[in-house]
Amino acid sequence: MPAFASRVVFLGLDGGTMSVLGPGFDRGLLPNLASLWRRSAFGALRSSEPMVTPVAWTSFATGCTPPTHGIHEFVYADPSDRTLRANHAGRVRVPTLWHVLGALGREVVSLNLPMTYPPPRVPGLIVAGADAPGLDWAFAHCPGFAAEIAAHVPDFTIKIAWKHRPKTLDDLRSRAAWNRAIFRAQADAAERADRRADWTAMMVHFQNLDSLLHRLWPYLDVDATGLRVPGWNEEVEGCLRALDETAGRLMELASRRDAAVIALSDHGFGPCRALVNVNGLLRDAGLQRGLMYGTRFRYRARRVGDRLRRWMSRRGVGVSGRLMPRSIEGQVGCDWKRTVAFAPFGQLCGCIFLNPRATATSGAADRARREVIEACRAARDPETGAPLFSGVFSVADRYAIDPAAEGLPEVLALSADGYQAQAKWGVSLRNELLRPDPDLPGTHWSEGILAIDAPDVRPGGHLRAHLHDVAPTALAMLGLPVPESMEGRVLHEAFENPLPIHYGARPEIEPDPQFEELLAAGFGAECA
Ligand SMILES: [Zn+2]
Repeated sequence: MPAFASRVVFLGLDGGTMSVLGPGFDRGLLPNLASLWRRSAFGALRSSEPMVTPVAWTSFATGCTPPTHGIHEFVYADPSDRTLRANHAGRVRVPTLWHVLGALGREVVSLNLPMTYPPPRVPGLIVAGADAPGLDWAFAHCPGFAAEIAAHVPDFTIKIAWKHRPKTLDDLRSRAAWNRAIFRAQADAAERADRRADWTAMMVHFQNLDSLLHRLWPYLDVDATGLRVPGWNEEVEGCLRALDETAGRLMELASRRDAAVIALSDHGFGPCRALVNVNGLLRDAGLQRGLMYGTRFRYRARRVGDRLRRWMSRRGVGVSGRLMPRSIEGQVGCDWKRTVAFAPFGQLCGCIFLNPRATATSGAADRARREVIEACRAARDPETGAPLFSGVFSVADRYAIDPAAEGLPEVLALSADGYQAQAKWGVSLRNELLRPDPDLPGTHWSEGILAIDAPDVRPGGHLRAHLHDVAPTALAMLGLPVPESMEGRVLHEAFENPLPIHYGARPEIEPDPQFEELLAAGFGAECA
């Protein structure tokens, strides 16, 4: 007989990977997470395509893949005028776990999860993450909780502690102290939320694990890139210890409430061997023509002018520079008469559009799409011969949708582990394909982590799951209906007995009268 869990706590370990946790368990650095893993069914959790934070966490929250939930990057192109805009929670096309639980009359607590801005109107406490325009906005629907946190947990923040790689030990020390305080504040906030809400699901998301790994990967000393520098390794390990202590407090909270615990990451992590110049690759393949030297100056001047206008508009009341539409063609400096394909945005994925002027006939568009796919598939690291992309596909063929009608790229080229595709490169004379980034020694890898500690769980490292499997599994584990809109599968193999599954209707999402106002406030930080 399966035994159902009555509640679940999710630990959102952004960028969490076994190549850091495993050595941390062995070295005794992470005793709380190590004991969770010992009790749990655990294993590899494959990220979304592409493996970027907003796409991945939306896949978790909806139990769906990108063509269904509609979030493919930080930004999207508006098909009506080909301008770029920031993605947000209102663009998610299917109900999230929070909506599903809300429709069942259950309360939820969610702290800092990406793509929860504007926060959904559901019973409980939803505090948005780094994509909210500011802390007050993140608490938009729970002002009472906001006041309590402001008064008693001053370190609680949605800010990213590691925007750059620290240059000095002093800089590292002060940022590490701040990062540790942020983790501790998240446990404080979760304990206070627990007293305010009778939650069925509680999510605490640790964005700063991802930013720590990006900037300080070599000091984790877990692979061939490892460095041992007195002071530096200790500070980085101190942040991991603080994360483990926070996780330990949340596990204690879970055990007081008799809740199951699911720890998961949105993608793995590993060394970043090089950034990949996607537009440079298209230029090499003869699919894009750069600007001549004089026109390059004009292009730069226009970009500086755009930036200045955005900066000035940000000074205005209630206007955000991020909301001002930017045309997709304006993102790349090309000779448009001789350009067939270009990548206006994208990190960890080549997001390649066709120039409508050069591909007006369907024959020309088909040929261009084929050539783009061939060029990306053939792209190799000249030093090692390793492919730069793990998968390259036509969006129309793979997703069975019309990319132009939805403002999507024609071709997606997913970064291979160790390489970070990059649309923005700057206009340089040399058309280099690869460049290591000293500020970014680590980047997302495709294989993340999952550990489930619940009644009737079968411990051991035998799980092979996808991010979109987690939400349906959590609902089935709680004995609640899984809405038919969820695409993921229930991970029966995590349990001694298969879970009975009841399918339910897709819940209606209540419109939020404040939504437009929250959207107009703009957005916060972008990060990979
Ligand atoms: Zn992430």
